[in-house]
Amino acid sequence: THAAIDLTSILDSVCLRNAHKSAISFEGKTWTYSEFDTRCRRLARYLKQHGVRKGDRLGYAGQNHPAFLETLFAAAHLGAIFVPVNYRLSGPELTYIINDAGMHTLIFDGFMQATVENISADLCTQGLLAVDAPASPHPDYEQAIEDNHPLLETVPVSAQDVAFIMYTSGTTGTPKGVMLTHGNIFWNDLNLRLIEDIYGEVVLTCCPMYHIAGLNCAALAAIFRGAHQHIHRMFDPGETLRTIEREKVSALLCVPAMLLFMSQHEEFDTTNLSSVRALLSGGAPVPPALIKRYQQRGLPFYQVYGLTETSPYALMNLACDTKTHPEAAGKPVIFTEVRITDGKGREVPTGEQGEICIRGPNVMSGYWNKPEATTEVLTEDGWFSSGDIGYCDDNGFHYISDRKKDMVISGGENVYPAEVEAVLYQHEAVQEVAILGLPDDKWGEAVTAVLVVKTGTEITLESLRKFCDGKLARYKIPLRLFVVDELPRNPSGKVLKYVLRERLSSPSAQVA
Ligand code: ATP
Repeated sequence: THAAIDLTSILDSVCLRNAHKSAISFEGKTWTYSEFDTRCRRLARYLKQHGVRKGDRLGYAGQNHPAFLETLFAAAHLGAIFVPVNYRLSGPELTYIINDAGMHTLIFDGFMQATVENISADLCTQGLLAVDAPASPHPDYEQAIEDNHPLLETVPVSAQDVAFIMYTSGTTGTPKGVMLTHGNIFWNDLNLRLIEDIYGEVVLTCCPMYHIAGLNCAALAAIFRGAHQHIHRMFDPGETLRTIEREKVSALLCVPAMLLFMSQHEEFDTTNLSSVRALLSGGAPVPPALIKRYQQRGLPFYQVYGLTETSPYALMNLACDTKTHPEAAGKPVIFTEVRITDGKGREVPTGEQGEICIRGPNVMSGYWNKPEATTEVLTEDGWFSSGDIGYCDDNGFHYISDRKKDMVISGGENVYPAEVEAVLYQHEAVQEVAILGLPDDKWGEAVTAVLVVKTGTEITLESLRKFCDGKLARYKIPLRLFVVDELPRNPSGKVLKYVLRERLSSPSAQVA
């Protein structure tokens, strides 16, 4: 057939039906779908004039902004590959990614300006364009697009062509560029939509867009549906609550850390959240006690599980199932298979722990310029090894126990930190917790709890162990305890356990 599966065809179709509807609101301004489309095409024309061609890499480094999405669609119009970049990266980290991707042009915002200017001599890029950065010596984004005519002829691409290269955040090593095709992004959306189309009319994009969840599961999900999205430059718990009430937000996606901060905000109990028909949580394990906080406020709570490499949806737990099975990450999304293996490709029996493997049209085509890293995780028949440990019960619910790399082996027993964390979250003094393994002469690794305690409360190792007694097998109960002021997190809210491990392994670390 001649069906084109690509991002611009989807946007064209959405614009045809929603031309005069609001597409994006950002810091007091709103653009309709037709205005947004024109801005994307004007940028595409500018970039074409400056030499961007099919297959070239076009980067955006910055906080959430409409220009982020305009760059994405401008790239799609040119058949170029969009490379979103984390705005918190340091100069050397940014240089690595830009040069690894062989970026033709980089668009950056005021937040990134100083970093970009410091490294510009080391970059392979031919063009730089500045968004909201009036003092920058580089051409201004608004001017570039204002002075231009829209591009009318989109460069044709196929579903197999790479649309994005997204660098994994590196919580477990050097960043790798995940290649996602136009087809991957389309199927990821359909994979969820055909189970239940949960988004509604008003979407809040408060996760960072350089992250797969903010980009594919909020920003693009909204555009694909012709919905109105409110973009927050950065996450702020109070602002998120107020926007939900004021704009009658129907769907939002958060990582558990964001949910935690919102639930602890003074306005949480008084904000009207009744417009929300889907609250999606993904990206890290979510403690059932936290899910309950939102369910008590009447919010339909969906849990999703996936990775950048799977565009990202692999599992989804429906709101009704999250009520009965709050610990479950869910069941496979529609066109995607999930199985639990022994690490050598053999499926393990139901109920047994193993590595979660995923196959489907949403699985990446590979890592950019890293064929060996690709064959390490992707088999010839399309199975992707996630590096996560989990199991599946008799009813088909899948549970994520932990990352292979985060698993603690104490006295020969496997301890999954997420399980211990979920128990400790029930303790009244615990505000935040991370469980990890520290080297131990007797046990190999000692299960170690790192806590942030609620103000005015105290906790000792003895009282904590007592609390866990009867709730956890003895070998899972923490042997060591550290109380800290805050947990180190990456910008998408994941606790950086390797940072904690390094800090706590030093002899000067304080034991509570
Ligand atoms: P890196 O791959 O460099 O470590 P990252 O972890 O930020 O970076 P992502 O692709 O953003 O990469 O995150 C995917 C990981 O997030 C999964 O492998 C899994 O460990 C975790 N995760 C995602 N959703 C869930 C969930 N619902 N429950 C538990 N863990 C989850």
